[in-house]
Amino acid sequence: MSKEITSRNEDYAQWYNDLIIKGGLAENSAVRGCMVIKPYGFGLWENMRDQLDRMFKETGHVNAYFPLFIPKSFLSKEAAHVEGFAKECAVVTHYRLMNDPNGNGVVVDPESKLEEELIIRPTSETIIWNTYKDWIQSYRDLPLLINQWANVVRWEMRTRLFLRTAEFLWQEGHTAHASKDEAIEETRRMLDVYADFVENYMAVPVIKGVKTASERFAGAEDTYCIEAMMQDGKALQAGTSHFLGQNFAKAFDVKFLNTHNKQEYVWATSWGVSTRLIGALVMAHSDDEGLILPPRIAPLQVVIVPIFKGDEQKGFIDNTVRPVIQSLRELGISVKYDDSDNNRPGWKFAEYEKRGVPVRIAIGQRDIENNVVEIARRDTREKSSVSMEGLAFYVKTLLEEIQLHMYNKAKGYRDSVITEVNTWEEFETLLDTKGGFLSAHWDGTAETEEAIKEKTKATIRCIPLNNPQANGTCIFSGKPSTQRVLFARAY
Ligand code: AMP
Repeated sequence: MSKEITSRNEDYAQWYNDLIIKGGLAENSAVRGCMVIKPYGFGLWENMRDQLDRMFKETGHVNAYFPLFIPKSFLSKEAAHVEGFAKECAVVTHYRLMNDPNGNGVVVDPESKLEEELIIRPTSETIIWNTYKDWIQSYRDLPLLINQWANVVRWEMRTRLFLRTAEFLWQEGHTAHASKDEAIEETRRMLDVYADFVENYMAVPVIKGVKTASERFAGAEDTYCIEAMMQDGKALQAGTSHFLGQNFAKAFDVKFLNTHNKQEYVWATSWGVSTRLIGALVMAHSDDEGLILPPRIAPLQVVIVPIFKGDEQKGFIDNTVRPVIQSLRELGISVKYDDSDNNRPGWKFAEYEKRGVPVRIAIGQRDIENNVVEIARRDTREKSSVSMEGLAFYVKTLLEEIQLHMYNKAKGYRDSVITEVNTWEEFETLLDTKGGFLSAHWDGTAETEEAIKEKTKATIRCIPLNNPQANGTCIFSGKPSTQRVLFARAY
């Protein structure tokens, strides 16, 4: 039988692509850098989105929606912001097409040129802060805790399904506060929410930290991030939370009357996670047989496959399975009974393995006679014969166990590739062999950071939060350093 999925060791990039396509999550589209998210992939995104949305609401946020288009003049109001995004903006210049006078299909009507060009949002700070100007007058209007679910466009040159696309789906939180401390507290709170979600729902361990100045979001005072580790030893930034200071309030003149009756600029945060998280999930957990999805967000948690010959056996199995499905659903478990007769059971087994469905139940005539079913868990691929008595509770517990096992496995691997490094030689060798996070001293300068990146493609992923102060010498320059930072090659 020809192997449909390229193995990780053979070609990691191809393995990843195969998983996405053959697992039914997404495919490339006719538009460069833009993907089609297929129903199964979108089901996964919906589960992630719904859980994050609950967590945002539990922390006091509400949803709103702002325009897709941003007037060019808005984007240029915050100098660092426009500089950061200028190179990847899609710009709308006209609003009408016409028949080509030379008969070559349709062309842009030159008469329809926009007076002011519109940018398709790469992020919405500018349009939102332009709106907040009218919404905020006094300290009573604060804090303003708003989130938007939307699509954005960043004209990325090198794209990869989910991990980096030109158009992506995300949420962006934009909050306004009366004090610096409160805004920083919010920035940290949302970082914690992201870490909680990624670890406890996606089963992917993350390191919380702060970005260096050169990796900061354009227009932010501080960028906090969660960094995840993929199975090939490369890191992935899984989410960011920015403390924006008063930069956008100043750019859009958003002031409030404080409790001492004085005008003051508003303090801001913004934070986002995107469909990139699906890429993180795929790369962190899957194996050479296909996807492995964590039960808590899997679009389908359990599949039941009947094994039968003829209608009589089939009818018998149907009757046995019906109450099982009902009791699984009563426990909130999503389940599909795949009794289609187009494909053989073996084909179905392989298909649901590729799709990463956490639990497969197979049931045949002999099983019914013995009052058992065969249960296969996707994460370990272990099979066992389980009694029909109390089956739904057994499956519920098993799903929880799989969730935990997936997290522990990913964490075991992640921890095994964090290495303290003290010499440059060791640094370069490790990057080329084991990869992972290299914890090393850095002199704190952008020059050294850039030189290391130039030489090795490794970047400073973050300065971990609660990093112990420890004097040492910079791995590259030999100058004094006060703490270790985490380097890695990254997606
Ligand atoms: P940022 O606004 O740059 O802080 O990014 C917000 C979130 O979007 C982060 O979690 C990024 O990992 C993610 N992200 C940034 N660029 C892309 C992209 N081209 N495709 C998918 N996700 C992205």
